[in-house]
Amino acid sequence: MNIRMLHFICLLFCFTVEASASSDIDKMSEEDRAHVIFSGYDILIENVQLIDGTGAAPRQNMSVLVRNGIIEKVQPSDEVLTQDYVQKIDGTGKTLLPGFVMVHEHMFYPAPKLGELNAYPYSFSRLYLAGGSTTVRTAGSIAPYGDINLAKAIAAGKQPGPDIDVTGPYLEASPVIAIKQAELEGVESIARTVDYWAGAGVTSFKVYNNLSHAQLRTAINTAHSRGMKVTGHLCSITYADAAKLGIDNIEHSFAVAPDFVANKQADTCPDPREVFSSLATLDPDGDELGTLIKLLIEKNVALTSTLPIFEASTPGRPKTPDYALDLLIPELRQSYERIWQRIHNSALSSNYLSKLMRMEKRFVEMGGTLLAGTDPTGYGGVIPGWSAVREVQLLIEAGFSISEAVKISTLNGARFLDKGRSIGSVEPGKRADLILIDGNPVHDPRQLVNIEYVFKEGIGFSAKSIFEAMKGKVGLY
Ligand SMILES: [Zn+2]
Repeated sequence: MNIRMLHFICLLFCFTVEASASSDIDKMSEEDRAHVIFSGYDILIENVQLIDGTGAAPRQNMSVLVRNGIIEKVQPSDEVLTQDYVQKIDGTGKTLLPGFVMVHEHMFYPAPKLGELNAYPYSFSRLYLAGGSTTVRTAGSIAPYGDINLAKAIAAGKQPGPDIDVTGPYLEASPVIAIKQAELEGVESIARTVDYWAGAGVTSFKVYNNLSHAQLRTAINTAHSRGMKVTGHLCSITYADAAKLGIDNIEHSFAVAPDFVANKQADTCPDPREVFSSLATLDPDGDELGTLIKLLIEKNVALTSTLPIFEASTPGRPKTPDYALDLLIPELRQSYERIWQRIHNSALSSNYLSKLMRMEKRFVEMGGTLLAGTDPTGYGGVIPGWSAVREVQLLIEAGFSISEAVKISTLNGARFLDKGRSIGSVEPGKRADLILIDGNPVHDPRQLVNIEYVFKEGIGFSAKSIFEAMKGKVGLY
């Protein structure tokens, strides 16, 4: 055999090795590999209850065959799917969901000092995955290079974590609420910021409280010219005006809408108490909200539900469970406990959360696209690993069926991120991003927390193992 031939064979061989290496776990650290239970072999999950993410009713006794990280077949278990050797998982008493696609998942968490936010990409990326999120959008960054590099490391298989749509630094004017946000004056600085970060690797943008109409228009046009979407946490600009300017998505559904503040000044963020009281007196089934919902639907604006962050500040609501609080360093936990007690003991009783739920339900009933996110900010307590499941539970409490709540948290997000063909539901040809739950959340949504394995591209991680390793690490790294 001549040297040329050898070269040719080597080329073929090298390519094969390279191709399979990209989907296995060799590049991960030993620490991370310890969380892997199924390392990419073909897998057959049998006799499982399936909630497939399309909104279809749960199906019993289903089998799902995964090959090379892709869902090959989804069929009733009494039909023979394969006679090959595959690793089998008995799904009796268990429930299978698509991996969550959550769109408000920051890589930072609040410090006990108001306005201070610290990024914990190491623990958060692993915990988001352990909590069932296989794809996330960050919806605002205080450390964009960190988020970009994290997304790249995960995409290259160097560490576990969800696929990340990295949102750029907050596009905000004065005054900023966090010390790590930039104050951008005028329209040129907005265009320059969008261009710079789009070039550096971010893939979406978020506008914040105080932009002017001109700044928002510039943000949207500059991002759209690069094929990127814009979401916003609005205050100075009404939802109606932002929809007319072409915004793609608005965060926190109706919870921060300034549209109903009487005599709202253009380009000025009203006092939060004014926004709150305008919403407190608004009829969730009335014409005023109905008109806004129709406009949002007509302009194709998706809303993001972030119920966990609003639950955290509502008196009388349950505390974050211990298994999530155990992830925090003592200082963060103490801070959470102190503020939670204060809110819990306050005389204020609030129907705000239930009203917000009703508004979200109505938006969907009228044909709107609702996405799901968790937003680990406020005073703490919304903790990756637990927060996604909590969002799904709260959507169910809002009156959505479990199939609808799962669709909002999976396929809706996938479609919004233009990934609906490859992820977001358990269907043949899609990536094997799956959550296996030990129990039946159809009868009892509390059982959603019993996540046993999370599969990303067919690689199965033990949720327990990741939680165990991240105990007391949020606040450190
Ligand atoms: Zn946020």
